[in-house]
Amino acid sequence: MEIEPAEEVKEPPRIHRLDESVVNRIAAGEVIQRPVSAVKELVENSLDASSTSISVLVKDGGLKLIQVSDDGHGIRYEDLPILCERHTTSKLSKYEDLQSIKSMGFRGEALASMTYVGHVTVTTITRGQLHGYRVSYRDGVMENEPKACAAVKGTQIVIENLFYNMVARRKTLQNSADDYTKIVDLLSRFAIHHIDVSFSCRKHGAARADVHSVATPSRLNAIRSVYGLSVAQNLIKIEASDNDPSSSVFEMDGFISNSNYVAKKTTMVLFINDRLVECTALKRALEVVYVATLPKASKPFIYMSITLPPEHVDVNVHPTKREVSLLNQEVIVEKIQSVVESVLRNSNESRTFQEQTVEATPSVPSVTNNDLHLSPSPSGSKSQRVPVNKIVRTDSSDPAGRMHAYLYKNPQKYLGRDSSLTTVRSSVRQRRNLKETADLTSIQELINDIDRKCHSGLLDIVRQSTYIGMADDVFALLQHNTHLYLANVVNLSKELMYQQVLRRFAHFNAIQLSEPAPLQELIMLALKEEDSDLESNENDDLKKKIAEVEWEEEKNCFQSLAAALGNFYAMHPPMLPNPSGKGLEFYRKRKHGKHTQDGGNSCHVDGTAEEDEFEHELLSEAETAWAQREWSIQHVLFPSMRLFLKPPNSMASNGTFVRVASLEKLYKIFERC
Ligand code: ADP
Ligand code: MG
Repeated sequence: MEIEPAEEVKEPPRIHRLDESVVNRIAAGEVIQRPVSAVKELVENSLDASSTSISVLVKDGGLKLIQVSDDGHGIRYEDLPILCERHTTSKLSKYEDLQSIKSMGFRGEALASMTYVGHVTVTTITRGQLHGYRVSYRDGVMENEPKACAAVKGTQIVIENLFYNMVARRKTLQNSADDYTKIVDLLSRFAIHHIDVSFSCRKHGAARADVHSVATPSRLNAIRSVYGLSVAQNLIKIEASDNDPSSSVFEMDGFISNSNYVAKKTTMVLFINDRLVECTALKRALEVVYVATLPKASKPFIYMSITLPPEHVDVNVHPTKREVSLLNQEVIVEKIQSVVESVLRNSNESRTFQEQTVEATPSVPSVTNNDLHLSPSPSGSKSQRVPVNKIVRTDSSDPAGRMHAYLYKNPQKYLGRDSSLTTVRSSVRQRRNLKETADLTSIQELINDIDRKCHSGLLDIVRQSTYIGMADDVFALLQHNTHLYLANVVNLSKELMYQQVLRRFAHFNAIQLSEPAPLQELIMLALKEEDSDLESNENDDLKKKIAEVEWEEEKNCFQSLAAALGNFYAMHPPMLPNPSGKGLEFYRKRKHGKHTQDGGNSCHVDGTAEEDEFEHELLSEAETAWAQREWSIQHVLFPSMRLFLKPPNSMASNGTFVRVASLEKLYKIFERC
């Protein structure tokens, strides 16, 4: 007898053919991953059998019993012997049929798989038969001859003891109680798409069904009956299509939640060519739109049905058919994304009108009021204990200020801004992790100065407040806890830039000039140019002084440069008067001819008669400039301030921050009204 030394190389193991029952059980475990996958297959079979009513009964999360009954066309007696064999189907004959397949099933694997991991009993009756048949299956084959039995129209399939022979799977599933929830969720999804079919889903022993839908011609009705009024009343209809073979061919229709809808998780019910599928790319694309468009950090509810030519869809890419692959998926996703975006923007605009009518009644602080009963936010739930006038109804972590979204005047102008918003956010985030600055003592001293002079109260306001909107050309309104503040954006942006120049010193992109620029001359030129229309030379001396940069003293030099840059980049009001306030007058056409005609009397222009008499180009230029500034204030200035600004002590007393009201007091005033 030879004893092999332990370190000797092992012989390659022998390859052998697996027992068919092992193969089948392994395959079955992939198709039927958990109880909900069995329910999905069974319901899809019922839909394929043209049923108009499908009911599901579940015991023990589906592990003890899953029973699906339908009123479809039933199964022929002659087919029963092979019904549960692998790859037996009535839906497909040749591979090419997959190109135009309309049914959900096509592999002939589902029922077979169930018989390998559970006990399956089928009761069925076809049209014109006096009685039905009942037969049980194990491992793909009938356990006995079909027995005649009484039956109602259609088919009932019962699966008992799912995964009885897969110990590990059964154990993991027994520990998770959420399979019934998954089944309810599945049925809810089917119910709002197949609105001509009535669905019910009930737990064994429960008196009431958890899903109960009746056939209805209205999708919104179906959504209301399944997901409830709170969802249905906050939906907007959407539609999109494209018919350009060089880019994409599809039709889409659906419902998406509006800005009143509040949820922590996205619900995305997606059907592609009537198949319930998941598409992560589309889901993400739409979530991004919601984050960027709506003021509340709510996740959306989306029901969407997309139809494509069947040959553009590969249905055979996932064992449970959960995903499909589409021709030109990226183009389609992009198109749908932009439709959703503009629908949401417009819905924000329509809210503006709502808010305006509410605003007309003086006693109601409309936006706050609106937020109050619509958002079951953590602050709302505290309402029993915290006095109502002390509740803080804003959240400084909201991506955008709350009020702004209600006040969009001209949504078209903001289209295409989301991508810039995303870019801005990510670049802000990148800068957050900036390494420490250049190791120049002078710069370090200036930075230390900033840190030392930082006002902790103001710092808290800057970091924790919510941007509400612009109160006028220079002051933004902020809410911090229960206080309202006016903040001077010119001063703030000047200071922010000053600090940023110092902190990011040596981290800016540099341009190397081949010859040094004659700085002094250039600055003089610029200063003269700026004042040329005022024709005043008396400040020449001052200009010289400004132009003389103190190059010799490092610290002063950097400080004055940083201050000059801060001033240059500060968010000064645009040159053109603000057209949304009194500045509008500036854009009225001055009609000299007319003045003389009506006796030189018409310096006062009658608003109603001459509504259209504006310098339109100038007006629209001004509108754009002001809108852009406001956008930058909200989306760039305040987010950056939150991250980087150290407000100096001086800002507490020089009018940069002014506390205008305490909401507690305001609340009392409103209460009395
Ligand atoms: P597939 O759906 O891929 O064809 P299945 O294993 O799910 O494979 O079903 C096998 C066949 O059994 C189907 O093709 C269909 O003809 C028949 N069948 C299954 N369930 C039903 C049902 N509820 N009503 C009528 N026929 C059914
Ligand atoms: Mg099937």
